[in-house]
Amino acid sequence: MDKQRDFVLRTIEERGVKFVRLWFTDVLGTLKSVAIAPAEVESAFAEGLGIDGSSIEGLTTASEADVIARPDPATFQVLPWRGEVDPTARMFCDILTPDGEGAAADPRNVLKRALARAAERGFSFYTHPECEFYLLKDADPSNPTPVDQAGYFDNVPGGTANDFRRASVRMLEDLGISVEFSHHEAGPGQNEIDLRYADALSTADNIQTFRTVVKEVAIAQGVHATFMPKPLQAQPGSGMHTHMSLFEGEQNAFHDAAGQYGLSRTGRQFVAGLLRHAPEFTAVTNQFVNSYKRLWAGDEAPSHISWGHNNRSALVRVPLSNKPQSARVEYRGIDAAANPYLAFSVMLAAGLKGIEEGYELPEEATTEVWSLTDKERRALGYEPLPSSLDRALGLMEDSELVAETLGEQVFEFFLQSKRADWRRYRAQVTQYELEANLTLL
Ligand code: GLU
Ligand code: MG
Ligand code: MG
Repeated sequence: MDKQRDFVLRTIEERGVKFVRLWFTDVLGTLKSVAIAPAEVESAFAEGLGIDGSSIEGLTTASEADVIARPDPATFQVLPWRGEVDPTARMFCDILTPDGEGAAADPRNVLKRALARAAERGFSFYTHPECEFYLLKDADPSNPTPVDQAGYFDNVPGGTANDFRRASVRMLEDLGISVEFSHHEAGPGQNEIDLRYADALSTADNIQTFRTVVKEVAIAQGVHATFMPKPLQAQPGSGMHTHMSLFEGEQNAFHDAAGQYGLSRTGRQFVAGLLRHAPEFTAVTNQFVNSYKRLWAGDEAPSHISWGHNNRSALVRVPLSNKPQSARVEYRGIDAAANPYLAFSVMLAAGLKGIEEGYELPEEATTEVWSLTDKERRALGYEPLPSSLDRALGLMEDSELVAETLGEQVFEFFLQSKRADWRRYRAQVTQYELEANLTLL
């Protein structure tokens, strides 16, 4: 720890860093930043930086407004988009109460608690996200226009997308974030960048950095990047499929050469946990009104609960792993705008529950779940995911698993904030209604 602090202080000196941004995330997933002078860094390490948490979404209750942001020296990086003149660096922070406890409503702390529970059972949790997003010509909500008309894996000569991905991937590498691959996605202007797998806390931090990088590169290139789950009605939405595995020491606990698709009993139980608890945690992995427009439109986004091997209509996919180390399961429900700390926490908790209770994995889905009738799906036991934010919140409200995992404060704040969002949406008279009803009725 001290070595890491020394390294940070030395780098600040050597690189002539002029500003150090302290980053943390609110309950809704928004990245927050406060800049301090280099001279303050030493005391920020020792005592943390006192901040008024009361205007930060969900962070504190009015009576306990003061919190402390303590930077994690392992996350120190110089920000490449700020250039070499007056360099700026950043560190992620843990939020503490005045008596030095991890703040209940710090999403990073929620994930740390979930990881500690996994560690008690001897597991460490690794994730690898596939981040999808759209590049639009500008941020005009009345007419979202993609920057190109290309599709899946298309190479667009001289196009914005190639340049965009190259600049973003370089910047991410400069920030110490490895990118596994990047490509044009199926929608016009839609792209995907996959971050290499890492322990879940690092991945969640990396996703927050990734979103910032993508926004910065978009500004530099005069376009608008959006992680909105379904920005274009007739085009695929943006998911954040998350590949997950549990390790016991050096051993991948999901691997068993003799198991179907190389998946161990532990892996099967983890998937069974995801399937059983998906309805109650979907509000967390899909937290916006708009999230449910993606989940109900096909286009390789799941709408029903099933698992499969090479089945992209399933909620959970079990890829065939050619190496023991890479045995993993892919959760396809989560979208591009989820708060990664909270989403990883609930997915992990659901999977662990499956292991603890020894859940049985249902039969694999081998057909395209979208092409079945409701009756056929019912017969096969493919229950629907919640069809709206309202439904999802109703299911979350009754969930002991989600309440325990998020902790009471985050759980209550989340429900209340999202209910308010739903009420605002519900009060709208939409274009659809006007077009369908105005002349007819
Ligand atoms: N865009 C799809 C989704 O919303 C995923 C496409 C893919 O399989 O990568 O989940
Ligand atoms: Mg994709
Ligand atoms: Mg995928």
